[in-house]
Amino acid sequence: MSDSAFHLDADTEARFWAKVEKTNGCWNWTAARIGNPLRGAFRVRGKMFHAHRLSFLLAHGSIPAGYNVFRSCGNQFCIRPDHLFLSQLTGRPRDSSKSTTMRRFMRLTLKTETCWLWTGTRWRGYGAIKMPIGEGRWRARPAHRVSYQLFRGEIPPGMFVCHRCDNPSCVRPDHLFLGTSAENTADAALKGRMRRGTESPGAKLTETEVIDIRRRMSGGKETVYEVAADYRVSPSLISQIQRGRIWRHVQPAP
Ligand SMILES: [Zn+2]
Ligand SMILES: [Zn+2]
Repeated sequence: MSDSAFHLDADTEARFWAKVEKTNGCWNWTAARIGNPLRGAFRVRGKMFHAHRLSFLLAHGSIPAGYNVFRSCGNQFCIRPDHLFLSQLTGRPRDSSKSTTMRRFMRLTLKTETCWLWTGTRWRGYGAIKMPIGEGRWRARPAHRVSYQLFRGEIPPGMFVCHRCDNPSCVRPDHLFLGTSAENTADAALKGRMRRGTESPGAKLTETEVIDIRRRMSGGKETVYEVAADYRVSPSLISQIQRGRIWRHVQPAP
């Protein structure tokens, strides 16, 4: 890849986007498909490009050496720019353990409009995921650190993975950044992390349950009393969640 940003002439770019069917979610490639696994393909100046790579190049100008473009939605024909992300995963067989980890990781992740919430085991508000440590043994590791390694790259020794958002159970790669121990502590204190959500003293619900409660209440068919009974909490708590008086930081995807 040259230093200058990737560019297509207007006609070619129009021809490219004409082959895309946009939905509210994914943007699906409708033209040529090549390879195994099959991917969308588009010919530019006599050379075949994977359509999702072209989409990424048009949006960001370049793909750094050693990185590949993956889809966060898991739809192999999607080329929507904000469903694409860079990773050092190669997808070749020698990386099968890393892609297996990726699949396990994504199965335990609930994407919302803002954060990606961890639905697996928690430890002190942070997600935890079991990782192999050799000889058939496993150890629980913080899910946000595993996310950073999967999507962004290695964590230098002694560095912490901190959150840009207020949500320790968030594992969204672009909500994470590397920091020192001091930054990590300051970060947590500044955001009052210990006083919200699942971490609040006496928290009775998890973020996933709050999302489910909002969905049920917005359906308009159930009363606060029915939903409260299901979660064994008070009707006033359900009503406060519904009106966004509490748990405001948890928002479901549309
Ligand atoms: Zn998609
Ligand atoms: Zn987040």
